[in-house]
Amino acid sequence: MSTPAMPQAGTALLELRQVSKLYPNGTLANDDVSLSIRAGEIHAIVGENGAGKSTVMKMLYGLEQPSCGSLWLDGQARVLADPAQAIAAGIGLVPQHLHLLPSFTVTDNIVLGAEPRRGWRIDRKTALRRVQSLVQQFGLEVEPLARVRDLPVGVQQRVGILKALYRGARVLLLDEPTAVLSVQEAESLFRVLRSMVAQGLTVVLISHKLKEIRDVADRFTVLRKGRVSGSGRVSDFSEAELGSMIVSKAPPPIPARTRQRATQPLVEIRDLQAHHADGRLAMQSLSLDIAAGEILGIAGVEGNGQDVLARVLLGLQPASGGQGRLQGRRFTGLSVREVRACGVGYIPEDRMRDGVAAEMSIADNLIAVSYHQAPLARRGWLDSAAIGRTAATLMQHCGVAAPSSATLMGALSGGNMQKLVLGREVAAGPRLLIASQPTRGVDIGAARALHGQLLALCEGGAAILLISADLDELLVLSDRVAVMAEGALVAHFDAAGLSADVLGPYLTGAQRQQNATALLDNAVTFSGVPA
Ligand code: ADP
Repeated sequence: MSTPAMPQAGTALLELRQVSKLYPNGTLANDDVSLSIRAGEIHAIVGENGAGKSTVMKMLYGLEQPSCGSLWLDGQARVLADPAQAIAAGIGLVPQHLHLLPSFTVTDNIVLGAEPRRGWRIDRKTALRRVQSLVQQFGLEVEPLARVRDLPVGVQQRVGILKALYRGARVLLLDEPTAVLSVQEAESLFRVLRSMVAQGLTVVLISHKLKEIRDVADRFTVLRKGRVSGSGRVSDFSEAELGSMIVSKAPPPIPARTRQRATQPLVEIRDLQAHHADGRLAMQSLSLDIAAGEILGIAGVEGNGQDVLARVLLGLQPASGGQGRLQGRRFTGLSVREVRACGVGYIPEDRMRDGVAAEMSIADNLIAVSYHQAPLARRGWLDSAAIGRTAATLMQHCGVAAPSSATLMGALSGGNMQKLVLGREVAAGPRLLIASQPTRGVDIGAARALHGQLLALCEGGAAILLISADLDELLVLSDRVAVMAEGALVAHFDAAGLSADVLGPYLTGAQRQQNATALLDNAVTFSGVPA
């Protein structure tokens, strides 16, 4: 296939700039997506199922609105409030499901809703003439007077293309056009698309087939989990390179850390226990120590008391016995605010419920969340400019890309939200940080960033209680790992050399170590070997 002439090649015709799309159900379908469609090119939007490709198309066609970020057409920021505005701007969509009327002719289907009229009558002659001339111009091989129900699906798709062209589209969006086509039909579609760009039109198509992208597209943008993971000229990349942009790569390794154990525990928890509201035992009496600069991992199948431990330590739930001390000072049995004032930070498991207010701005979230008011209150209330500056610094520090600190928290990806929650907690300089499932639902890149933040805090001398259902995370970050089952500590290991296989029988409750309920720093630790 020859490369077509590229009219005004290089000029950005249609762009998304830092666009995020958060659906009302909380799905972040696009996260900080920037992409640029050049005039006269075939641009493939590539990615796995659920990567956010259709969402991009819907925003380009005015079917969905960006939650933040902007759409640019011909170098100007535009709002496409609905498809009618997109069509008026010269953007046409060929959906996967065409919604054609089977008993109508090709021409009737094409002009439907935009019929040429003579007086109050539909001007069928003019309609037919226009359709015929489009068919000819782009070599579409469609019989204008055939009934749609008699046409194979590939030809019906051309009717969809003609519908868009008839309405004056200069940019044609095709949502997975080859999904329903045979190989031959796909090849003939590609010929049509080539002919269109050769005549100055621009084509954007969704695909997840590498071969197809190589066959037809000039440039591409890859989406992975809602984010752009690559873009460029197709001819500059091998199939393997494109493939590795599409599927999640193996994460980069966590930097090796020097595991140290101070002699004096910073955190001492003794005989701590808690009951559910209905009187059942929620957490059996447990004791543990955490040293400064140490990460103690708590492994366990969810709902085995780990959340209770976190909530009791935070003062969110009362203890029915025992106590916790931080640097010798008791911090349990106090209000959440008092616990925080003692130097305890918290990364909640359910950040949407406990960590952030999605409908508030990033700035408000970073400083106005009630339990974070204490450090600010010491200095009195800040003015909004100062709040914005503080928030912007924190965003930069956490590597969170958002248009501004006024952006709504809910428009951020789960990963960015969690980075900000963690950043906020780290900025408060806790001596003990309780991190509950800190990377749940967060993509690998953001998880690595969060791990880096946790390690830095730990290097700075804080003690970290890391509660995680993700064994890989626990094994790689922790100095020691304790297992909770049925509300009790059942085992305790040195993390060096520990594997998920060893933890398995303890997680299921099939096995437990003797005297495991008291995991004191000076107690014997079991180096990967069950007691
Ligand atoms: P793709 O086209 O790459 O398969 P989509 O843009 O269709 O991806 O979907 C991206 C994510 O957004 C998916 O998790 C999908 O379930 C979700 N999603 C798509 N449309 C909606 C919607 N209208 N409401 C809520 N979630 C949606």
